[in-house]
Amino acid sequence: ENAEMQRLSALPNRTKNGQPFELLANCFGPEDIDTAMQSGARGVGLLRSSYMMLPGRILDEQEQYFFYSSCLAAAKGCPVTVRTFDFGADRTMADAYQGLQSSKLGLRGIRNSLRQPRQFETQICALLRAAARGPLRVMFPMVTNVEDWDAAMRVVERCREHLRERGVAFNEDTKFGVMLSVPAACLTAEEFVEHGVDFLVIGTNDLTQYTHAADRELASAEHYYRPASKAMKKLITMVMDAAKVRNVPVTICGLAVGNPANTVQYLQLGLRSFSVSPQNLLGTKKALLEAET
Ligand code: PEP
Repeated sequence: ENAEMQRLSALPNRTKNGQPFELLANCFGPEDIDTAMQSGARGVGLLRSSYMMLPGRILDEQEQYFFYSSCLAAAKGCPVTVRTFDFGADRTMADAYQGLQSSKLGLRGIRNSLRQPRQFETQICALLRAAARGPLRVMFPMVTNVEDWDAAMRVVERCREHLRERGVAFNEDTKFGVMLSVPAACLTAEEFVEHGVDFLVIGTNDLTQYTHAADRELASAEHYYRPASKAMKKLITMVMDAAKVRNVPVTICGLAVGNPANTVQYLQLGLRSFSVSPQNLLGTKKALLEAET
């Protein structure tokens, strides 16, 4: 089995009829990034930044800067896409964010970040600084409309100004994108493209949940939770069509992407960049190598 794994991971990322694809990993920090790179990932498509938090305490800018820098080091020159705090979804960390209410249909992700501008600025400053050390990209979770995007980017601009004033090294050209997990955002994807997103990432776990009004953690709603339903395909197609207008790169991530039956359907919708859990990398690669586009 080990020999088969080595053989697979040495093969170039091309489908049966020669279409290149990109295989990335969903990670939590330097340790599982290391594992993912050894299993053939070409970078991190989703880094869940909330998990670096110590219980009850938000790391300061310097501590976050070190964390992101060690993630880049573990990715060995490959791109790392960091999702800004998703408190509300990553409930284990909710207590780090004192006083914040959270709920699936209420305050979570960027909604919380925009209400906590100081903590959000700390994170963005740390990210902009780390981006001077390697190919780090930043995406905002739970974005619903372009107002969210514009508000987040105003914070980014403010952070750039702070860092210039402080004379601290950072990457002026850091790429920013949106994580699409709200159907309203997919339905208006062209607006994000018009408003200058550098990239888009479809988060199938949450997008499936919100599209079908089926809680991803409730077994009783399982029957309605369908990551490759006709509804999902329509939303994904809208995103792909909008992105094409300005050649905005699109990645798809989430548990469903690591299930070969779904992976191939996403490939057929035009996706060429896939981000999966480290343990699903080789299975996903195998399915894509054998697929026809
Ligand atoms: C998603 O929502 O698709 C996703 C990958 O994020 P998470 O698994 O962290 O909810």
